[in-house]
Amino acid sequence: MDPRTGFPVVGMVGGGQLARMTHQAAVALGQSLHVLAASVADPAALVTPDVVIGAHTDLAALRSFAHGCDVLTFDHEHVPTGHLRALVAEGVTVHPGPDALVHAQDKLVMREKLAALGVPVPEFAAVSEVAEVVKFGDAHGWPCVLKACRGGYDGRGVWMLSDADEARSVVPRLLEAGTPLLVEQRVAMRRELAALVARSPFGQGACWPLVETVQSDGICVEVLAPAPGLSAESAAAAQEMALRVADELGVVGVLAVELFDTAAGVVVNELAMRPHNSGHWTIEGARTSQFEQHLRAVLDYPLGATDVLAPAVVMANVLGAPSAPARGADERLHHLFARFRDAHVHYYGKQERPGRKIGHVTMLGRSMAEVRERARLAAHWVSHGEWLDGYDIH
Ligand code: ADP
Repeated sequence: MDPRTGFPVVGMVGGGQLARMTHQAAVALGQSLHVLAASVADPAALVTPDVVIGAHTDLAALRSFAHGCDVLTFDHEHVPTGHLRALVAEGVTVHPGPDALVHAQDKLVMREKLAALGVPVPEFAAVSEVAEVVKFGDAHGWPCVLKACRGGYDGRGVWMLSDADEARSVVPRLLEAGTPLLVEQRVAMRRELAALVARSPFGQGACWPLVETVQSDGICVEVLAPAPGLSAESAAAAQEMALRVADELGVVGVLAVELFDTAAGVVVNELAMRPHNSGHWTIEGARTSQFEQHLRAVLDYPLGATDVLAPAVVMANVLGAPSAPARGADERLHHLFARFRDAHVHYYGKQERPGRKIGHVTMLGRSMAEVRERARLAAHWVSHGEWLDGYDIH
């Protein structure tokens, strides 16, 4: 309990933009998010007074941070499972708990569990030597996909292998470096979707409409909500599947289920047990944002309504331009608002670097094609300082 506010204290491990936006939601609930950040320059450390600097891999740092909190939750999934088990044994409330979180930490554990639950996943196999990859590719077809079981993000830790020769050159190097690997079938997908749900310890579940996530080079660039051209039955089936996964794994908080949309239906790619990039649109586009919902869930409050507030909502990520734009960020924002009065901008307080997620823009409207075009123009302007359609700024 925080004596200043009379509310329980939520502590988040990791000080990235997810913690920053969770803190923003926490303020409205009378909270001040406690954050364990790696550095004072982390996005969340810049905005919350209750920040502790420490490494998420350091049990002593985690322990002293956790003992000042009523519940511990996460901005990323990389805290070692053993550390979390130790904290739970000492009486710390951890949401999601280590037995759930491991399915977002380890892709092989996740694939095995979901397959056992009868949830559709790509064909996969564990890899301990290169011959297994060659055998898998020969059996299921090339190219196939090699993945690091742990630690990947934004496509780092994913290798497309075009043939057995490429497998023979890539796999041994990774195994020698001690990287646990799995291989899976390359899925012929029409597009990528995400089902975002939340679950409370009480067992209440809530889900937002299914969204389409548009990817470029393994990085999510746009999110379209609700996913266009998806039948009500397919959307409902995917939502039910995501809620069932949350329930079966005992997730507490937000769960993002990343999906491949194929001719035969959806297949699960990834799980994330925290607010997720595919849910940033909910800040302005849904009745309850994923950040508030995550807090409600970990505090075991009743969950909020998840209705979408416009026929079309688009979130476009602002990715650092290849070279620094001539106009400063402040000037770019001026011109953005001059052109698009309804643009919702979120800056994460990060230094601009090529390809880095430094913010996002959300737009709401009536037509998906029109809203998408405006969001794309806005995000590109914010990152590059140039209008893709040649718009004249004066
Ligand atoms: P990360 O954890 O780094 O985000 P993912 O497993 O989500 O890695 O893969 C990143 C991207 O690579 C996916 O969004 C998808 O575009 C592509 N990808 C991953 N697995 C497959 C697959 N089995 N078949 C086809 N494309 C894939």
